[in-house]
Amino acid sequence: MSSDPEKIDLPEREWRERLTEEQYHVLREAGTERAFTGRYVDNHEDGEYRCAGCGEPLFDSEAKYDSGSGWPSFTEPAGAVREHEDGSHGMRRVEVRCAKCDGHLGHVFPDGPGPEGLRYCINSASLDFRNRK
Ligand code: FE
Repeated sequence: MSSDPEKIDLPEREWRERLTEEQYHVLREAGTERAFTGRYVDNHEDGEYRCAGCGEPLFDSEAKYDSGSGWPSFTEPAGAVREHEDGSHGMRRVEVRCAKCDGHLGHVFPDGPGPEGLRYCINSASLDFRNRK
């Protein structure tokens, strides 16, 4: 994992201007897009997934797999994410955020297929995919 990026902190009204309504809801209000509605669920292209809020590279197609959950799923992050306990909605989960802009990305669950056994369950709305050159 790369070292901590320099943090960016924008006033809420600036996030409102930069982001679509859905991106704002997910990234800044820790919302969740409905399963199977995100644009990257079935994306199998080769490339990197950057934070839709700040552009920081966060995940890579190399670690993406079809979990059947309805959200883009990765076995590991490729960039600076921050994880912390989330007790909202009566569940104990681990929330995943962008370490640079603190945008909400999704959650990580201990039922993944890789060596670490992790499933990073990430909202498409939090991501901006770039094809590898
Ligand atoms: Fe970010």
